Amino acid sequence: MRVIFISLLSVLTLLMSLAAQDRSSETLDIYVIDVEGGEATLFVSPSGESMLVDTGWPGFDNRDAKRIAAAAAAANVSQIDHLIVTHFHTDHMGGVHQLVEQLPVINFLDHGITVDQGERQRTAFERYVRLRNRHTHRVVKPGDQVAINGLDVRIIASNGEVLTSPLPQAGQMNPACEGFKFHGENILSRYGDAEDQRSVSAFVGFGQFRTVIMGDLTWNKEFPLMCPDNKIGLVDLYLISHHGSDTSGSAALVQAITPRVGVMNNGPRKGGGLQTFEILAGVQSLEDIWQNHYAVPVGEANMDERFIANLQDFAPEGDTSTIHLGSSYWTHVSAKRDGSFTVTNSRNGFSREYGPRN
Ligand SMILES: [Zn+2]
Ligand SMILES: [Zn+2]
Repeated sequence: MRVIFISLLSVLTLLMSLAAQDRSSETLDIYVIDVEGGEATLFVSPSGESMLVDTGWPGFDNRDAKRIAAAAAAANVSQIDHLIVTHFHTDHMGGVHQLVEQLPVINFLDHGITVDQGERQRTAFERYVRLRNRHTHRVVKPGDQVAINGLDVRIIASNGEVLTSPLPQAGQMNPACEGFKFHGENILSRYGDAEDQRSVSAFVGFGQFRTVIMGDLTWNKEFPLMCPDNKIGLVDLYLISHHGSDTSGSAALVQAITPRVGVMNNGPRKGGGLQTFEILAGVQSLEDIWQNHYAVPVGEANMDERFIANLQDFAPEGDTSTIHLGSSYWTHVSAKRDGSFTVTNSRNGFSREYGPRN
């Protein structure tokens, strides 16, 4: 009888600990969700609080909202506590209406008001404003913090402004500023970067582990953030800016933050620029780059396919970057307080561990 009681007790204890795991763990988990050249990156703190940066595209039978909900389910979270809309471009904000039908979103954070003047963009923005007005909404500015138990989340850029004083453990002189060349009018107007340069960008710290996520913050805005002193400091994981496109990711940024790993949220034909790969190849500290997609235009510049979450675009001619409705895979980063972390490709289960920074 006593043996039965003890084993019942141990089963009960096991069940209780499994239930507790639903809302607590030892790791910060980051899911770089594939939204085909948009952005949707989910952070789940050890306490179970969640922060989503951007919502992917609208349409496609709610494709991106479903993919975000799938990652949330994998992370055992049932709501988004903090949603950062980095800026008001369709590939970042567009999926928000579908998202709120899949998951409750509690707090909206963004840079305020769109500067895009096109009628389509204004209409989309006004529809977004009607949604955020039904929630808690905050316009963030550099230096603001996002209160998440166990994490240090700080806004480093917003609405065209950047930090004016360095984060803790930052402020080093940045030798990579030497020779910085601003992008001229041609490249700026070609990419219509008025919204991009207002991207809300954030630093996320968890114990010794450090990362940054910067939306589509532009090359030119990286200069005041990183020069002459590096206001971010060192990071372990660089969530590669602007889908890896060549209009962001200057040496002044990536040489100074000395990342050990980069994860690129590129699409098959969006982002993943040759110059980005070349600049990153010059970063001594960088051990690996993981990609959300094979980048068709750059061919052999792509990483070994073990590091690429979605390969379906090796071949199709005339394909565009946003029409895939089928299964997709994410890149999952699981970070520990000591600064070590593991990255896993959900397509093939390939994973690699990175020890604490020396
Ligand atoms: Zn974008
Ligand atoms: Zn953009």
